[in-house]
Amino acid sequence: MTQVPAANWAESFRYGFEDCIYPSSLDAVREIVARASAIKTLGSRHSFNAIADGTLALSLAELPIDAAIEADGTQVSVGGQCTYGELALFLQRHGLAIHNLASLPHISIAGAIATATHGSGDGNGNLATAVAGLEFVVGDGSLVHVRRGDADFEGMVVHLGALGVVTRVTLDVQPEFDIAQCVYEGLSWDALLANLDATMAAAYSVSVFTQWAEKAGTVWLKRTVSADDWPAEIHGATRATVKRHPIIGLDPENATEQLGRYGRWSDRLAHFKMGFTPSSGAEIQSEYHIARTHGAAAIEALLKIRDRFAPLVQSGEFRTVAADRLWMSPQYGNDTLSIHFTWVRDQPAVDAAAAEIEKALAPFAPLPHWGKVFTRNHIGAAYENLARFARLRDRMDPERKFSNTWLEEVVFGVGG
Ligand SMILES: Cc1cc2nc3c(=O)[nH]c(=O)nc-3n(C[C@H](O)[C@H](O)[C@H](O)COP(=O)(O)OP(=O)(O)OC[C@H]3O[C@@H](n4cnc5c(N)ncnc54)[C@H](O)[C@@H]3O)c2cc1C
Repeated sequence: MTQVPAANWAESFRYGFEDCIYPSSLDAVREIVARASAIKTLGSRHSFNAIADGTLALSLAELPIDAAIEADGTQVSVGGQCTYGELALFLQRHGLAIHNLASLPHISIAGAIATATHGSGDGNGNLATAVAGLEFVVGDGSLVHVRRGDADFEGMVVHLGALGVVTRVTLDVQPEFDIAQCVYEGLSWDALLANLDATMAAAYSVSVFTQWAEKAGTVWLKRTVSADDWPAEIHGATRATVKRHPIIGLDPENATEQLGRYGRWSDRLAHFKMGFTPSSGAEIQSEYHIARTHGAAAIEALLKIRDRFAPLVQSGEFRTVAADRLWMSPQYGNDTLSIHFTWVRDQPAVDAAAAEIEKALAPFAPLPHWGKVFTRNHIGAAYENLARFARLRDRMDPERKFSNTWLEEVVFGVGG
């Protein structure tokens, strides 16, 4: 296989790769990395900016996933290229689960943790918080193994693709659990703003989808407790009697099971089903993480300028993510409200809208999602652990084999 990926999944960003190597063994990865002067590992290509860009790409798609249960059934170890969908199939066979999923199961685990990808839930950390161990291939081709509790582990998990090739990830698992999902429609802005915390606390995982229109939109509750006492309404929003897609007008068949029926965690924690197109496909995404204390004020600030960006929105979403201790995580030390935009695929218009949004959100110190579109430079400066991360990168990648322009400008603030 010699195909050179030309663009990201959404075809909104064109890579500059001249070649792509597809090794089929760990030893081959080590040799390739040792020989290369610069190399970028590609995950499932679901990011929307230049984070994964470079000249020589490395794909782990030909490596076996080699999933294995470890630590008396409390952890699972898999190849970094494994997708959450593939992981879920393996865990099903062992009656196990992970704590949460992003909106789609199609993304690779190593790529997702690189950018602190998250789902929702007041008590749920982002997906990187489930990482208990990592294996990296570093610049000289040697292996670095690290476990939770080791020095600098918390700097290595949200790795931004900067530290080496993540060839294996160990994740915490738990006994499998059931989830049921119900959608509530017609939530007003007044009701959302007056009851933001109560709304987001109403289930294990809650998403509020919005078009930034007259009404706030729909509340998606994902509950773990087996009960049939779903309320008829939540803060004035009424329970949907038919299945919905997060983007109004798209086929709900692609969305996960709803209408309050309980079933496997992995069939409901994501919004989109494996084997179907997630989201819309022709799109761009942005997302801003705001400390929970500023959540309602941040939404109000955006409502004041919504005419400047709403026409470009296919779907917006509010989610909550619990605080963690991972150095480059936007949730480091802070529970966040995460304000997401799925835009139409018009990069110049989206860049202009993102700049307006960033201006309006500036008083609330927003941290953009590492893998999505934003316009502010040197985001790394907003992270109190940047200097530690830079020292870690100096140790793990002294030759800058895994760097690219995006990392230098956006994270480390060099030449930006
Ligand atoms: C339809 C859609 C829905 C989404 N939903 C969500 C969501 O619900 N929540 C959320 O937070 N985000 C979401 N995202 C964003 C997405 O989860 C992130 O951009 C994520 O990083 C993508 O992972 P990937 O495997 O595609 O990584 P890529 O985009 O391929 O790469 C991202 C970074 O990871 C590095 N990388 C990848 N694999 C490795 C490896 N094995 N070793 C070392 N470095 C590696 C790359 O070099 C790059 O730096 C969504 C994106 C799309 C397109």
